[in-house]
Amino acid sequence: MTTPTTERTVNPQTGKRALFNDSQLGWLTKAMAFAEKIPLADKIKSDTENSFRRDLFEAACKEGFGGLPFPKTYGGSGGDYVSFCLLNEEFGRTVVPVMSSLGVHILCQEPVYKFGNEEQKKKYLPPSSTGEYLAAFGLTEPNAGSDTAAIQTTAKLVGDEYILNGTKTFITSGAAADYYIVMAKLIDDKNPDAVKSPKSITAFIVERNFPGFAVGQKFNMLGMRGYATCEIVFNDCRVPKKNLLGEHGQGRQVALGSLAKGRVTIAAQATGWAQGALEGIVSHLNAHREKLNEVAYLVGELAMQVESARALTYQAAYAIDRGEGDAVLAGMAKIQATDAAMKVATEAISIVGEEGTEPKLLLERIFRDAKAGQIYEGTNQIQRSLIARNLLK
Ligand SMILES: Cc1cc2nc3c(=O)[nH]c(=O)nc-3n(C[C@H](O)[C@H](O)[C@H](O)COP(=O)(O)OP(=O)(O)OC[C@H]3O[C@@H](n4cnc5c(N)ncnc54)[C@H](O)[C@@H]3O)c2cc1C
Repeated sequence: MTTPTTERTVNPQTGKRALFNDSQLGWLTKAMAFAEKIPLADKIKSDTENSFRRDLFEAACKEGFGGLPFPKTYGGSGGDYVSFCLLNEEFGRTVVPVMSSLGVHILCQEPVYKFGNEEQKKKYLPPSSTGEYLAAFGLTEPNAGSDTAAIQTTAKLVGDEYILNGTKTFITSGAAADYYIVMAKLIDDKNPDAVKSPKSITAFIVERNFPGFAVGQKFNMLGMRGYATCEIVFNDCRVPKKNLLGEHGQGRQVALGSLAKGRVTIAAQATGWAQGALEGIVSHLNAHREKLNEVAYLVGELAMQVESARALTYQAAYAIDRGEGDAVLAGMAKIQATDAAMKVATEAISIVGEEGTEPKLLLERIFRDAKAGQIYEGTNQIQRSLIARNLLK
Protein backbone atom coordinates (compact mmCIF):
# COMPACT_ATOMS: atom_id res chain seq x y z
CA MET A 1 0.00 0.00 0.00
CA THR A 2 1.45 3.40 -0.91
CA THR A 3 1.09 5.83 1.94
CA PRO A 4 2.06 9.28 0.73
CA THR A 5 -0.34 11.16 2.96
CA THR A 6 0.57 9.22 6.10
CA GLU A 7 4.28 9.54 5.46
CA ARG A 8 4.03 13.31 5.27
CA THR A 9 2.34 13.44 8.65
CA VAL A 10 5.39 11.90 10.32
CA ASN A 11 8.31 14.13 11.19
CA PRO A 12 11.30 12.21 9.75
CA GLN A 13 13.65 13.63 12.38
CA THR A 14 11.67 12.78 15.47
CA GLY A 15 9.49 9.99 14.10
CA LYS A 16 6.54 11.79 15.75
CA ARG A 17 3.28 12.38 14.01
CA ALA A 18 3.25 16.13 14.00
CA LEU A 19 -0.19 17.03 12.78
CA PHE A 20 -2.53 14.09 13.33
CA ASN A 21 -3.31 11.84 16.30
CA ASP A 22 -3.70 8.06 16.25
CA SER A 23 -7.47 8.16 15.88
CA GLN A 24 -7.24 10.50 12.87
CA LEU A 25 -4.54 8.36 11.26
CA GLY A 26 -6.72 5.31 11.96
CA TRP A 27 -9.47 6.81 9.81
CA LEU A 28 -6.93 7.61 7.10
CA THR A 29 -5.69 4.02 7.10
CA LYS A 30 -9.29 2.76 6.80
CA ALA A 31 -9.95 5.17 3.94
CA MET A 32 -6.79 4.02 2.15
CA ALA A 33 -7.75 0.36 2.51
CA PHE A 34 -11.24 1.12 1.14
CA ALA A 35 -9.91 3.14 -1.81
CA GLU A 36 -7.35 0.52 -2.70
CA LYS A 37 -10.01 -2.15 -3.22
CA ILE A 38 -11.77 -0.19 -6.00
CA PRO A 39 -10.53 -1.35 -9.41
CA LEU A 40 -9.44 1.30 -11.95
CA ALA A 41 -12.04 -0.07 -14.40
CA ASP A 42 -14.84 0.79 -11.90
CA LYS A 43 -13.57 4.33 -11.52
CA ILE A 44 -13.51 4.83 -15.28
CA LYS A 45 -16.92 3.19 -15.78
CA SER A 46 -18.80 5.39 -13.29
CA ASP A 47 -17.33 8.41 -15.10
CA THR A 48 -17.92 7.34 -18.71
CA GLU A 49 -21.38 5.88 -17.99
CA ASN A 50 -22.23 8.71 -15.56
CA SER A 51 -23.64 6.05 -13.22
CA PHE A 52 -24.01 6.32 -9.45
CA ARG A 53 -22.61 3.47 -7.32
CA ARG A 54 -25.11 3.04 -4.48
CA ASP A 55 -23.42 -0.24 -3.54
CA LEU A 56 -20.12 1.58 -3.03
CA PHE A 57 -21.85 4.26 -0.97
CA GLU A 58 -23.36 1.57 1.26
CA ALA A 59 -19.99 -0.19 1.54
CA ALA A 60 -18.41 3.12 2.61
CA CYS A 61 -21.13 3.52 5.26
CA LYS A 62 -20.39 0.01 6.57
CA GLU A 63 -16.85 1.24 7.28
CA GLY A 64 -18.30 4.02 9.45
CA PHE A 65 -17.72 6.79 6.88
CA GLY A 66 -21.45 7.65 6.44
CA GLY A 67 -21.69 9.43 9.80
CA LEU A 68 -18.01 9.86 10.54
CA PRO A 69 -18.06 13.27 12.27
CA PHE A 70 -21.33 12.78 14.20
CA PRO A 71 -21.71 11.43 17.74
CA LYS A 72 -22.37 7.78 18.42
CA THR A 73 -25.62 8.72 20.23
CA TYR A 74 -27.12 9.38 16.80
CA GLY A 75 -25.49 6.42 15.09
CA GLY A 76 -22.41 8.34 13.96
CA SER A 77 -18.81 7.21 14.30
CA GLY A 78 -17.73 9.89 16.80
CA GLY A 79 -14.78 11.02 14.67
CA ASP A 80 -13.71 14.61 14.16
CA TYR A 81 -13.73 16.83 11.07
CA VAL A 82 -9.98 16.49 10.57
CA SER A 83 -10.49 12.72 10.19
CA PHE A 84 -13.27 13.31 7.67
CA CYS A 85 -10.93 15.61 5.72
CA LEU A 86 -8.16 12.99 5.75
CA LEU A 87 -10.67 10.53 4.25
CA ASN A 88 -11.72 13.06 1.61
CA GLU A 89 -8.14 13.88 0.69
CA GLU A 90 -7.44 10.18 0.20
CA PHE A 91 -10.65 9.67 -1.82
CA GLY A 92 -9.71 12.66 -3.99
CA ARG A 93 -6.16 11.42 -4.49
CA THR A 94 -7.32 7.98 -5.59
CA VAL A 95 -10.50 9.19 -7.34
CA VAL A 96 -13.01 7.15 -5.34
CA PRO A 97 -16.25 7.41 -7.33
CA VAL A 98 -18.60 7.99 -4.35
CA MET A 99 -16.54 10.78 -2.78
CA SER A 100 -18.83 13.69 -3.68
CA SER A 101 -22.07 11.96 -2.68
CA LEU A 102 -20.51 11.07 0.66
CA GLY A 103 -19.39 14.68 1.15
CA VAL A 104 -22.88 16.02 0.44
CA HIS A 105 -24.40 13.27 2.63
CA ILE A 106 -22.40 14.59 5.61
CA LEU A 107 -23.25 18.19 4.60
CA CYS A 108 -26.96 17.30 4.85
CA GLN A 109 -26.69 15.59 8.23
CA GLU A 110 -25.01 18.66 9.67
CA PRO A 111 -28.18 20.84 9.72
CA VAL A 112 -30.29 17.93 11.00
CA TYR A 113 -27.81 17.52 13.85
CA LYS A 114 -27.56 21.26 14.53
CA PHE A 115 -31.09 22.53 13.89
CA GLY A 116 -33.22 19.37 14.03
CA ASN A 117 -35.40 18.40 16.97
CA GLU A 118 -34.85 15.13 18.82
CA GLU A 119 -37.45 13.28 16.74
CA GLN A 120 -35.80 14.39 13.47
CA LYS A 121 -32.31 13.49 14.67
CA LYS A 122 -33.44 10.00 15.70
CA LYS A 123 -35.36 9.49 12.46
CA TYR A 124 -32.76 10.68 9.94
CA LEU A 125 -29.26 10.43 11.43
CA PRO A 126 -28.86 6.70 12.31
CA PRO A 127 -30.08 5.39 8.92
CA SER A 128 -27.88 7.99 7.22
CA SER A 129 -24.84 6.61 9.02
CA THR A 130 -25.63 3.03 8.01
CA GLY A 131 -26.26 3.96 4.38
CA GLU A 132 -29.93 3.00 4.47
CA TYR A 133 -30.64 6.66 3.65
CA LEU A 134 -28.72 8.83 1.21
CA ALA A 135 -29.17 12.60 1.55
CA ALA A 136 -28.98 15.47 -0.96
CA PHE A 137 -28.91 19.25 -0.59
CA GLY A 138 -31.35 21.45 -2.52
CA LEU A 139 -30.45 25.11 -2.63
CA THR A 140 -29.47 26.10 -6.20
CA GLU A 141 -32.19 26.97 -8.71
CA PRO A 142 -32.17 27.77 -12.44
CA ASN A 143 -32.24 31.51 -11.55
CA ALA A 144 -30.44 31.40 -8.21
CA GLY A 145 -26.87 30.09 -8.02
CA SER A 146 -24.40 32.45 -6.37
CA ASP A 147 -27.27 34.70 -5.35
CA THR A 148 -28.98 32.28 -2.98
CA ALA A 149 -31.34 35.03 -1.80
CA ALA A 150 -32.99 34.92 -5.24
CA ILE A 151 -34.50 31.44 -4.84
CA GLN A 152 -38.08 31.17 -6.06
CA THR A 153 -39.20 27.86 -4.58
CA THR A 154 -42.06 28.59 -2.20
CA ALA A 155 -43.62 26.87 0.79
CA LYS A 156 -47.08 27.56 2.19
CA LEU A 157 -48.47 26.16 5.41
CA VAL A 158 -51.89 24.62 4.75
CA GLY A 159 -53.33 22.73 7.70
CA ASP A 160 -50.77 20.20 8.87
CA GLU A 161 -48.65 20.36 5.73
CA TYR A 162 -46.36 22.72 3.87
CA ILE A 163 -47.03 22.86 0.13
CA LEU A 164 -43.79 23.32 -1.82
CA ASN A 165 -43.51 24.53 -5.43
CA GLY A 166 -40.37 25.10 -7.47
CA THR A 167 -37.32 23.51 -9.07
CA LYS A 168 -33.81 22.93 -7.72
CA THR A 169 -30.97 22.30 -10.12
CA PHE A 170 -27.51 20.64 -10.17
CA ILE A 171 -28.41 18.56 -7.13
CA THR A 172 -25.64 16.06 -6.33
CA SER A 173 -27.16 12.61 -5.60
CA GLY A 174 -30.52 14.13 -6.59
CA ALA A 175 -31.69 11.13 -8.60
CA ALA A 176 -30.60 8.61 -5.97
CA ALA A 177 -31.30 10.24 -2.60
CA ASP A 178 -33.89 9.23 -0.01
CA TYR A 179 -34.27 12.66 1.59
CA TYR A 180 -33.38 16.25 0.74
CA ILE A 181 -32.56 19.35 2.76
CA VAL A 182 -34.54 21.95 0.82
CA MET A 183 -34.57 25.73 1.12
CA ALA A 184 -37.82 27.51 0.15
CA LYS A 185 -39.38 30.93 0.70
CA LEU A 186 -42.32 30.86 3.08
CA ILE A 187 -45.57 32.45 1.92
CA ASP A 188 -47.32 34.40 4.67
CA ASP A 189 -50.90 35.29 3.69
CA LYS A 190 -51.00 38.05 6.30
CA ASN A 191 -47.92 39.69 4.81
CA PRO A 192 -47.79 38.91 1.06
CA ASP A 193 -44.60 40.95 0.43
CA ALA A 194 -42.59 39.03 3.04
CA VAL A 195 -42.00 36.15 0.63
CA LYS A 196 -39.74 38.41 -1.47
CA SER A 197 -37.27 38.79 1.39
CA PRO A 198 -34.41 36.35 2.05
CA LYS A 199 -35.66 36.40 5.64
CA SER A 200 -38.52 34.18 4.47
CA ILE A 201 -36.14 31.37 3.48
CA THR A 202 -36.98 28.28 5.49
CA ALA A 203 -35.48 24.77 5.52
CA PHE A 204 -37.35 21.49 5.16
CA ILE A 205 -36.56 17.80 5.18
CA VAL A 206 -38.28 16.40 2.10
CA GLU A 207 -38.52 12.67 1.56
CA ARG A 208 -38.39 11.24 -1.91
CA ASN A 209 -41.79 9.56 -1.57
CA PHE A 210 -43.69 12.69 -0.49
CA PRO A 211 -46.56 13.36 -2.95
CA GLY A 212 -45.64 16.04 -5.51
CA PHE A 213 -41.88 15.36 -5.44
CA ALA A 214 -40.21 14.35 -8.71
CA VAL A 215 -36.74 13.90 -10.11
CA GLY A 216 -36.30 16.17 -13.15
CA GLN A 217 -33.73 16.18 -15.94
CA LYS A 218 -30.41 14.47 -15.28
CA PHE A 219 -27.17 16.20 -16.21
CA ASN A 220 -24.39 14.89 -18.40
CA MET A 221 -21.69 17.12 -16.97
CA LEU A 222 -18.06 17.80 -17.87
CA GLY A 223 -16.81 16.83 -14.41
CA MET A 224 -18.12 15.20 -11.22
CA ARG A 225 -19.86 12.55 -13.26
CA GLY A 226 -21.42 9.48 -11.67
CA TYR A 227 -23.12 11.40 -8.88
CA ALA A 228 -26.76 11.21 -10.04
CA THR A 229 -26.77 15.00 -10.43
CA CYS A 230 -30.14 16.31 -11.59
CA GLU A 231 -33.01 18.70 -11.11
CA ILE A 232 -35.54 18.01 -8.38
CA VAL A 233 -39.05 19.34 -8.81
CA PHE A 234 -41.75 20.24 -6.27
CA ASN A 235 -45.21 20.33 -7.74
CA ASP A 236 -47.61 21.02 -4.86
CA CYS A 237 -45.29 18.75 -2.90
CA ARG A 238 -46.84 17.92 0.49
CA VAL A 239 -44.37 18.08 3.35
CA PRO A 240 -45.67 17.25 6.86
CA LYS A 241 -45.42 20.10 9.36
CA LYS A 242 -43.04 18.02 11.48
CA ASN A 243 -40.49 18.14 8.62
CA LEU A 244 -39.81 21.84 9.10
CA LEU A 245 -36.07 22.06 9.91
CA GLY A 246 -35.30 24.77 12.44
CA GLU A 247 -37.66 27.72 12.53
CA HIS A 248 -39.50 29.79 9.97
CA GLY A 249 -36.99 32.16 8.37
CA GLN A 250 -33.94 30.24 9.58
CA GLY A 251 -33.21 28.72 6.17
CA ARG A 252 -30.25 30.89 5.23
CA GLN A 253 -28.59 30.17 8.54
CA VAL A 254 -29.22 26.44 8.00
CA ALA A 255 -27.80 26.54 4.47
CA LEU A 256 -24.84 28.83 4.97
CA GLY A 257 -23.66 27.11 8.18
CA SER A 258 -23.62 23.73 6.42
CA LEU A 259 -21.93 25.11 3.32
CA ALA A 260 -19.13 26.71 5.38
CA LYS A 261 -18.22 23.22 6.62
CA GLY A 262 -18.85 21.70 3.21
CA ARG A 263 -16.26 24.01 1.66
CA VAL A 264 -13.63 22.50 3.95
CA THR A 265 -14.67 19.03 2.76
CA ILE A 266 -14.23 20.22 -0.84
CA ALA A 267 -10.85 21.71 0.06
CA ALA A 268 -9.78 18.29 1.34
CA GLN A 269 -11.08 16.54 -1.79
CA ALA A 270 -9.28 19.03 -4.01
CA THR A 271 -6.05 18.71 -2.03
CA GLY A 272 -6.34 15.01 -2.82
CA TRP A 273 -6.91 15.71 -6.53
CA ALA A 274 -3.87 18.00 -6.56
CA GLN A 275 -1.79 15.37 -4.74
CA GLY A 276 -2.97 12.63 -7.13
CA ALA A 277 -2.06 14.74 -10.18
CA LEU A 278 1.33 15.60 -8.65
CA GLU A 279 2.02 11.91 -8.10
CA GLY A 280 1.12 11.34 -11.76
CA ILE A 281 3.73 13.92 -12.78
CA VAL A 282 6.40 12.42 -10.51
CA SER A 283 5.76 8.92 -11.75
CA HIS A 284 5.94 10.09 -15.38
CA LEU A 285 9.15 12.08 -14.86
CA ASN A 286 10.80 9.15 -13.08
CA ALA A 287 10.27 7.19 -16.30
CA HIS A 288 11.26 10.15 -18.54
CA ARG A 289 14.25 11.74 -16.80
CA GLU A 290 15.12 13.58 -20.04
CA LYS A 291 12.19 15.95 -19.42
CA LEU A 292 13.23 16.75 -15.87
CA ASN A 293 15.57 19.71 -16.49
CA GLU A 294 12.94 21.56 -18.41
CA VAL A 295 10.15 21.18 -15.85
CA ALA A 296 11.97 20.80 -12.50
CA TYR A 297 11.18 24.37 -11.37
CA LEU A 298 7.54 23.87 -12.28
CA VAL A 299 7.30 20.64 -10.29
CA GLY A 300 8.72 22.50 -7.27
CA GLU A 301 6.11 25.20 -7.67
CA LEU A 302 3.28 22.66 -8.00
CA ALA A 303 4.44 20.73 -4.91
CA MET A 304 4.37 24.00 -2.96
CA GLN A 305 0.82 24.72 -4.18
CA VAL A 306 -0.33 21.29 -3.00
CA GLU A 307 1.26 21.71 0.42
CA SER A 308 -0.26 25.22 0.77
CA ALA A 309 -3.68 23.77 -0.01
CA ARG A 310 -3.13 21.06 2.61
CA ALA A 311 -2.00 23.54 5.25
CA LEU A 312 -5.05 25.79 4.78
CA THR A 313 -7.41 22.82 4.62
CA TYR A 314 -6.33 21.29 7.92
CA GLN A 315 -6.12 24.71 9.57
CA ALA A 316 -9.78 25.15 8.62
CA ALA A 317 -10.66 21.59 9.72
CA TYR A 318 -8.98 22.00 13.10
CA ALA A 319 -10.86 25.29 13.55
CA ILE A 320 -14.14 23.39 13.01
CA ASP A 321 -13.15 20.79 15.61
CA ARG A 322 -12.34 23.54 18.13
CA GLY A 323 -15.81 24.99 17.55
CA GLU A 324 -14.27 27.99 15.82
CA GLY A 325 -15.37 27.20 12.26
CA ASP A 326 -14.66 30.23 10.14
CA ALA A 327 -16.36 30.89 6.80
CA VAL A 328 -13.44 33.05 5.58
CA LEU A 329 -10.84 30.39 6.34
CA ALA A 330 -13.09 27.74 4.78
CA GLY A 331 -13.39 29.88 1.65
CA MET A 332 -9.63 30.40 1.48
CA ALA A 333 -9.00 26.67 1.81
CA LYS A 334 -11.57 25.91 -0.91
CA ILE A 335 -10.07 28.46 -3.31
CA GLN A 336 -6.46 27.44 -2.72
CA ALA A 337 -7.16 23.72 -2.98
CA THR A 338 -9.44 23.75 -6.03
CA ASP A 339 -7.19 26.25 -7.87
CA ALA A 340 -4.17 24.07 -7.01
CA ALA A 341 -5.97 20.97 -8.27
CA MET A 342 -6.87 22.75 -11.53
CA LYS A 343 -3.29 24.00 -11.96
CA VAL A 344 -1.56 20.71 -11.12
CA ALA A 345 -3.95 18.65 -13.28
CA THR A 346 -3.49 21.07 -16.21
CA GLU A 347 0.31 20.94 -15.95
CA ALA A 348 0.21 17.16 -15.44
CA ILE A 349 -1.54 16.68 -18.77
CA SER A 350 0.91 19.09 -20.45
CA ILE A 351 3.95 17.30 -19.03
CA VAL A 352 2.70 13.76 -19.70
CA GLY A 353 1.42 14.72 -23.14
CA GLU A 354 -1.11 12.80 -25.19
CA GLU A 355 -1.11 9.83 -22.79
CA GLY A 356 -2.21 12.24 -20.06
CA THR A 357 -5.58 12.59 -21.77
CA GLU A 358 -6.27 8.85 -21.48
CA PRO A 359 -8.79 7.87 -18.76
CA LYS A 360 -6.52 5.19 -17.28
CA LEU A 361 -4.13 7.76 -15.76
CA LEU A 362 -7.09 9.56 -14.13
CA LEU A 363 -5.40 12.91 -14.83
CA GLU A 364 -8.05 14.09 -17.26
CA ARG A 365 -10.75 13.04 -14.77
CA ILE A 366 -9.06 15.09 -12.04
CA PHE A 367 -8.78 17.98 -14.52
CA ARG A 368 -12.54 17.87 -15.22
CA ASP A 369 -13.50 17.38 -11.55
CA ALA A 370 -11.24 20.23 -10.43
CA LYS A 371 -13.07 22.59 -12.80
CA ALA A 372 -16.36 21.68 -11.11
CA GLY A 373 -14.70 22.11 -7.72
CA GLN A 374 -13.94 25.73 -8.55
CA ILE A 375 -17.66 26.29 -9.14
CA TYR A 376 -19.80 24.37 -6.65
CA GLU A 377 -20.69 25.27 -3.08
CA GLY A 378 -19.89 28.91 -3.92
CA THR A 379 -17.70 29.85 -6.87
CA ASN A 380 -14.09 30.78 -6.17
CA GLN A 381 -14.79 34.30 -7.47
CA ILE A 382 -17.61 34.77 -4.97
CA GLN A 383 -15.43 33.31 -2.19
CA ARG A 384 -12.73 35.87 -3.01
CA SER A 385 -15.29 38.69 -2.78
CA LEU A 386 -16.48 37.37 0.59
CA ILE A 387 -12.93 37.39 1.92
CA ALA A 388 -12.47 40.98 0.75
CA ARG A 389 -15.81 42.09 2.19
CA ASN A 390 -14.89 40.55 5.52
CA LEU A 391 -11.60 42.46 5.57
CA LEU A 392 -13.24 45.74 4.65
CA LYS A 393 -16.23 45.60 6.98
C1 LIG B 1 -20.76 19.43 -9.94
C2 LIG B 1 -21.75 20.33 -9.27
C3 LIG B 1 -22.48 19.87 -8.20
C4 LIG B 1 -23.40 20.71 -7.55
N1 LIG B 1 -24.14 20.21 -6.51
C5 LIG B 1 -25.07 21.02 -5.91
C6 LIG B 1 -25.92 20.50 -4.86
O1 LIG B 1 -25.80 19.33 -4.44
N2 LIG B 1 -26.86 21.31 -4.33
C7 LIG B 1 -27.03 22.60 -4.74
O2 LIG B 1 -27.90 23.30 -4.20
N3 LIG B 1 -26.26 23.12 -5.75
C8 LIG B 1 -25.29 22.35 -6.33
N4 LIG B 1 -24.50 22.85 -7.36
C9 LIG B 1 -24.73 24.22 -7.81
C10 LIG B 1 -23.60 25.17 -7.42
O3 LIG B 1 -23.58 25.41 -6.04
C11 LIG B 1 -23.74 26.43 -8.29
O4 LIG B 1 -23.36 26.03 -9.59
C12 LIG B 1 -22.86 27.56 -7.82
O5 LIG B 1 -23.34 28.08 -6.61
C13 LIG B 1 -22.78 28.69 -8.87
O6 LIG B 1 -24.04 29.05 -9.31
P1 LIG B 1 -24.36 29.15 -10.88
O7 LIG B 1 -23.89 27.89 -11.51
O8 LIG B 1 -25.77 29.51 -11.03
O9 LIG B 1 -23.43 30.29 -11.41
P2 LIG B 1 -23.68 31.86 -11.32
O10 LIG B 1 -24.07 32.26 -9.96
O11 LIG B 1 -24.58 32.26 -12.44
O12 LIG B 1 -22.22 32.38 -11.62
C14 LIG B 1 -21.64 32.39 -12.91
C15 LIG B 1 -20.37 33.23 -12.86
O13 LIG B 1 -20.70 34.58 -12.47
C16 LIG B 1 -19.97 34.93 -11.31
N5 LIG B 1 -20.82 35.76 -10.45
C17 LIG B 1 -22.10 35.50 -10.09
N6 LIG B 1 -22.56 36.48 -9.28
C18 LIG B 1 -21.53 37.35 -9.11
C19 LIG B 1 -21.36 38.55 -8.36
N7 LIG B 1 -22.35 39.05 -7.62
N8 LIG B 1 -20.16 39.17 -8.40
C20 LIG B 1 -19.15 38.67 -9.14
N9 LIG B 1 -19.25 37.53 -9.87
C21 LIG B 1 -20.41 36.88 -9.85
C22 LIG B 1 -19.62 33.62 -10.63
O14 LIG B 1 -18.47 33.73 -9.81
C23 LIG B 1 -19.36 32.72 -11.83
O15 LIG B 1 -18.08 32.95 -12.32
C24 LIG B 1 -23.58 22.04 -8.00
C25 LIG B 1 -22.82 22.50 -9.09
C26 LIG B 1 -21.91 21.68 -9.73
C27 LIG B 1 -21.12 22.21 -10.88
